[in-house]
Amino acid sequence: MSGVWFLSLLNPIIASVFAFVFLALWFHQRARRYILGIVAAALLYVAGCTVQLSKFPADVGYNAAVSATLYSASIYLLFAGIFKRKNITDGYLLLAAIIVSIIGAIIYFYFVVNNLYMRVYVLNFGFGTLFLIAAYRLWRAGAAGVGDRILFWVILASGIQFFPRTVLALEVFDRGLLPREFGHSIFWLWLNFSLVIVIIGLALAVLTAVVLDIIDDLKKDGSTDLMTGLLNRRGFEERAGLMLAGAGTGPISMVYCDIDHFKAINDAHGHAAGDGVIKEFAVLLAAEMRADDIAGRIGGEEFAILLPDADIDGARAFSERVRRNLERSRFEGLQEHQGVTASFGIATRNGQEHLHDLTRRADKMLYVAKRSGRNCVRPQENTVVDLRSQAKA
Ligand code: GH3
Ligand code: MG
Ligand code: MG
Repeated sequence: MSGVWFLSLLNPIIASVFAFVFLALWFHQRARRYILGIVAAALLYVAGCTVQLSKFPADVGYNAAVSATLYSASIYLLFAGIFKRKNITDGYLLLAAIIVSIIGAIIYFYFVVNNLYMRVYVLNFGFGTLFLIAAYRLWRAGAAGVGDRILFWVILASGIQFFPRTVLALEVFDRGLLPREFGHSIFWLWLNFSLVIVIIGLALAVLTAVVLDIIDDLKKDGSTDLMTGLLNRRGFEERAGLMLAGAGTGPISMVYCDIDHFKAINDAHGHAAGDGVIKEFAVLLAAEMRADDIAGRIGGEEFAILLPDADIDGARAFSERVRRNLERSRFEGLQEHQGVTASFGIATRNGQEHLHDLTRRADKMLYVAKRSGRNCVRPQENTVVDLRSQAKA
């Protein structure tokens, strides 16, 4: 087998392997339907290679038109998949319009004006343009992570290489080499080899982006409380720590709250009813939160909320709203008249106080609230006095 044949076969073999790899990945990640687009792209590429290598259809013009259609469809599905991954909703029509023009021009330059050079130019410059447009659209969508950046650069580089490669190829033709000799030249080997690099590069870039997406989601799962959708303790501590580290001089308050006599609710009405109360409490919390507030379920029926730009009065008003809304709520599985209450402790950050100390003070105030008879809000010590005088007034 000559080197050219080996390289020509290598491309569809590599594409088949990647089609299989992506299909296996999709079986485990069915929610990521765009992976199927990548599988279909790889298979269409293999089909295009098969048409060219098998010389079926035998007529050069038909063969060129059919293989160009298959390659174009492959590129379209590749980019449609990559766009879907980023939730990009436009750009598809432009790619489709260019593809129709490419196929139209290939047909024209065989059946109307038979010109091999023009067919090579149209096909390669056309494909290069598709890649550059896709790279531009991805660049506009912005890079959210390493996966996005790798994909952008690989698509851009793959797109650019179509242009010098084509010009150089035709340059060698111009030097008078016959197509058959050309097909055995070192230069032609190099062209095929560069295609191998492009295909492996593209497949690895897409694979890396998908795998990084999966890792990101796993990380998110590891920091989310599945019952309420709020952060779990780990997630809360991570996010809250980051927020404190990057905080400016504005006030920051921490609210700790815990549902009252929750054990009794579980005992009287069952664990499922208890779960319902926890979920509803999370909804009440979320309804009062602003965009930058961070809330976590840090224990069974215990929650922490970090409120940036909230002084003690702001945090108390927030807690009071949640407390009253909970008191008024009625719950499925509980008796009609039976209300649920919660207690709240608040601490406001002192200077550059560490999360651990702020948390400890808020937790201490929650304990004070419990001891004060529950169903109440207790801000940090220095303001408790104010509260008492307010209560007397
Ligand atoms: P207090 O007013 O002092 O907070 O009394 P409490 O009964 O609420 O406090 P305690 O911490 O003793 O009870 C909490 C109970 O919450 C004990 C535990 O079985 C229950 N619990 C913990 N996690 C869950 C959960 O995910 N679902 C349900 N239904 N119950 C839970
Ligand atoms: Mg409790
Ligand atoms: Mg508790």
